[in-house]
Amino acid sequence: MIVLKSEAEIGLMKEAGKVLIECFARLEDFIRPGVSTLEIADLVDETMEEMGAINAEKGYGGFPGAACVSVNEVLVHGIPSSKKILHDGDIVSVDLVARKNGYHADACRTYPVGIVKEEHLRLIKETQECFEIAYRMLRPGVRLGDVCHAIEEHALACGYSVPREYTGHGIGRAMHEDPYIPNYGRPGTGPVLREGMTLAIEPMVMEGKNSLRVLPDGWTAVTRDHKYAAHYENTVAITSTGAEILTRQEGEGS
Ligand code: MG
Repeated sequence: MIVLKSEAEIGLMKEAGKVLIECFARLEDFIRPGVSTLEIADLVDETMEEMGAINAEKGYGGFPGAACVSVNEVLVHGIPSSKKILHDGDIVSVDLVARKNGYHADACRTYPVGIVKEEHLRLIKETQECFEIAYRMLRPGVRLGDVCHAIEEHALACGYSVPREYTGHGIGRAMHEDPYIPNYGRPGTGPVLREGMTLAIEPMVMEGKNSLRVLPDGWTAVTRDHKYAAHYENTVAITSTGAEILTRQEGEGS
């Protein structure tokens, strides 16, 4: 069941979104060669606490970390570690969920570390572009399958692939609500968007084949061909005429 949110509830989700905006602003300055993925998670955890939010990812479903920090061939759910040091040329995605006043916001950014190869910068850019394409389609009356299809279409046109195993989702009082929002879809299918829906749209894109495996830690999802992967996510609210992004500053992005 898709839960529609009132304007007041969306206002509360925006408060959670502001926490993520601040986390990403701090990470922008912080991420560089020599930093460990644990230090990234610690910075996020401290920022959320300072801003009166709950770090909803910490321990979620038994996840052994304070943030999902995924480097290079890790698509999602990288476990922060003091041993995992970032090097020049890496790309790192940081996927965060904050809860404030009982409502969640979920977002992810992929950062280049130091000097990164052109091909990987392109992956980061086009992964975000998948989101922008989806975002521009959002308005009441649109079928979700059309949006999901457009994400995959752009990724494939770039020569990339998208995963079958991991999807975006509705979000609100719960971190994961209906509907599922895959990064692929059949046009003309799926739920019809309505004002008050709040959705985490999260293109995950791989340079190579969409074949993944989960490491023995039970979480870390890596590409089998070791090619790089990127992830870009925002929480959005469907409005009467379009959609509003709750997890980034106006003017940021497209
Ligand atoms: Mg997320």
